Amino acid sequence: MGLEPIPDEPVHPRRLRRTLSVEMAARPGGLLATKVHFKHLQVATSEGYAARPGGAQAVFHQEWKKEEAKEKRKRTVEAYRQFEQGQLPAGPGADALLATFRAIEDELEGHDPGPAKVVTDRQLELLLKQKASVLHLSAANYCWFEGPAKALCLKLAGSKSATAPLTGLCDSSRCPQATHHLVHRPVWQTAADNGADMLASPRIPPGEKNRLRAEHERSMRRSTTQPERAYDMALSQEQRDQIERRIRAAIDRLLSGKIPPGGACDIKTLAREAGISRASLYRTWGHLKDEFEKRRAAAWAAGQQPDPREARIARLRDLNHRLTGKLARTHTEFNQLKERHRLLLSALAAKDDELQRLRRELSTFSHTSPAPAPEPRQGDDTSGVVPLPRR
Ligand code: SF4
Repeated sequence: MGLEPIPDEPVHPRRLRRTLSVEMAARPGGLLATKVHFKHLQVATSEGYAARPGGAQAVFHQEWKKEEAKEKRKRTVEAYRQFEQGQLPAGPGADALLATFRAIEDELEGHDPGPAKVVTDRQLELLLKQKASVLHLSAANYCWFEGPAKALCLKLAGSKSATAPLTGLCDSSRCPQATHHLVHRPVWQTAADNGADMLASPRIPPGEKNRLRAEHERSMRRSTTQPERAYDMALSQEQRDQIERRIRAAIDRLLSGKIPPGGACDIKTLAREAGISRASLYRTWGHLKDEFEKRRAAAWAAGQQPDPREARIARLRDLNHRLTGKLARTHTEFNQLKERHRLLLSALAAKDDELQRLRRELSTFSHTSPAPAPEPRQGDDTSGVVPLPRR
C-alpha cells in the first residue's frame, strides 16, 4: 500500500487520521469523503485537518496535491492501456483523447532505434504527463480541462476565466472535455436503476417524470455504451468476436477502395478504422493483420490498386519517369546541336578570313599593274562582297 508500517507499541487510531485523510483526499471526491468520514462541519476543517504550528496545513496541501497528481497519472495510463486493448473511451471528449493516444502511439512507433515493443507504465506516465495534468476526476466521468473556453459548466455559470472546472455543474454528455470509461459504469448504472424506480413510482408527478425520463435515458445510454471489460480482466469471447468482426469489416472496406479521408490502404488506417490501437492490432490481432497484408498483396499482384490515391501516385510516378527520360534525351540532342553550331561558326570564320585575304591580294594586284579590261566572270564578283562579322 505504500503506507508507513504500524509500530509495535499500542497505537491510538487518532495517530492515523492524517495519513488516512491524505489517502482519502487523493481519490475522486476524496476531500468530501474525508469531511464526512471525520464528521467535520466544514471542508476547510478537513483541508486543514492536520494543521499544526509550523505550517502543517501547507504540507498537507502539498502532499494531497502530490497524491492527486499521482492518481491522475495512474488513471491516464489505465485509459491508455485500455485503448491499446481496443477498449475505447466514450463521451463527447473521446475523439480528442484518442487523438492524444494515437500521437503517443506514433511517437512509440517512431522511437529510435526502432519501434518500442515493451513500454512500461513509467514510460507512459512520462509521455502522458501533460494530458494527465489537466485531468479532473469526477465520479461519473473524466474531465480533461484544457481551457475554460470549451468548458460547458463555466459557460452555464457565466464564468469565462476560471482556471478549474465547476464539477458541480458538469454535464458530461454534452461537454467536449468529458469522457466516460469503464470505471464510471457503476455510477451510470445506479443512476439508471434509480431513474427506473422513480419512473415506476406513483408518487412522482407526471411533469417531473418527463424530466426524469430524459435523465433516465441518458443514464441508460451511458451505462450501456461503457466498455464491458474490467481493467485487468481478459476479453470475453463475445468481445473478441465483436472486435474481430470490426477488424474484418474494416479490411473489407479498405480493400474495396473505401479509404477514409487522410487514410490509406495500410495498417495504420486499418487500426483506426477498426477502433483499436496499432499495438493491439500487432499483438492481439496479428493473424488479421497478416490476412489483410496477404489480401492486399494479392490485389496488387492482380493489377488492382485498392487505394485510389496510391493508384494516382503510381500513375504520376510512371509519368514522371517517362518525362525524365525524355528530358535527358532532349538535353543530349541539344548538346549535339550546340557542338555542330560551334563547328559551323568556326568554318564560317575560316572562310571569311580566306575571303579577306583574297580581297587584299586583288587590291595589291590592281595597284601595281594596269588592269586588263575586266571580264565579268560568273560566280567571282567580289566587288559586292560584304565582310562577315568576325566571331
Ligand atoms: S462540464 Fe464537466 S467535463 Fe466539462 S469542463 Fe465542466 S466539469 Fe469538465
